[in-house]
Amino acid sequence: MGGVTSETPVQSTAPLADQRPALVLVSTPIGNLGDLAPRAVAALRDADIILCEDTRVTAVLLSMNGIGTRLQALHDHNEAERIEPLIAAMRGGKRFALVSDAGAPLIADPGFRLVRAAIAAGLTVSAVPGPNAAVMALALSGLPPHPFLFIGFLPPRSAARRTVLERIASAERAGLHATLIFYEAPHRLVATLDDCASVLGDRPAAVGRELTKRFEEIRRDGLLALAVHYRGVLPRGEMTLVIGPAPDHVSSVVELDEALLAALETMSVKDATAAVARQLDLPRKQVYARALILRQDEA
Ligand code: SAM
Repeated sequence: MGGVTSETPVQSTAPLADQRPALVLVSTPIGNLGDLAPRAVAALRDADIILCEDTRVTAVLLSMNGIGTRLQALHDHNEAERIEPLIAAMRGGKRFALVSDAGAPLIADPGFRLVRAAIAAGLTVSAVPGPNAAVMALALSGLPPHPFLFIGFLPPRSAARRTVLERIASAERAGLHATLIFYEAPHRLVATLDDCASVLGDRPAAVGRELTKRFEEIRRDGLLALAVHYRGVLPRGEMTLVIGPAPDHVSSVVELDEALLAALETMSVKDATAAVARQLDLPRKQVYARALILRQDEA
């Protein structure tokens, strides 16, 4: 009987550890320098050259760990033109490690084109896994860990951001049921939370901030309540946004706004919240958060 078994060698006959990879992808800390794995230190020390985004950032990591390997910059602006000479050097026997400024290389960071070229050239590519903000935020979010859809950064402008979110929403209407993960800059967090709530509907979410660092925080709440919170407390540091999968029935924010605006014409925020929460079968906390925003907007 044919078929792949756990014993079947895939792609090569030698164990990966004996193949002296031409390129090793090495994950580095996302904030806490104590998170550099011993095997990462060894891979960085053993490489002939370390390719990194910013030589100044990686130089600090190397000096803290007594690593003297030479650094070369590889970033979005030079990756395309560096590929050919790098592949030639790998073919000539040079061994490279690839790191980014933080976390897993390639994940919202440079390196994909080089990895693809090395694979196409038949070179051995390996990795030392380690810290990654998306996976850490997902694990801490309390939201279903899989399936998940890692989006990375949304476009900075609201119109383009909403277009991407609309595409996700239409995939959800077609059956996608996944937890969503986004990277975001602190000064855009509130606008992104607003756009996510308005296009995807209010849902359980979490913001992982400054993960692995001194002021690590994970805030779990509905999208609207998170927007209210971060309007009041200026978000600082690095952050990852995790949004729960589309519920079977989501009252869209348009529906919620219409009901609230009508109720607020004659009622206090408190009474309007109670009435609309009952009417749409939504949690009071979610409705209250939105009612406050609408009152503020009116004012
Ligand atoms: N390659 C990295 C990884 O594996 O996580 C991500 C690089 S991407 C250019 C940087 C973004 O990741 C930040 O803007 C933030 O959204 C997220 N991020 C990085 N470090 C983080 C941290 N300590 N806590 C929360 N989010 C973080």
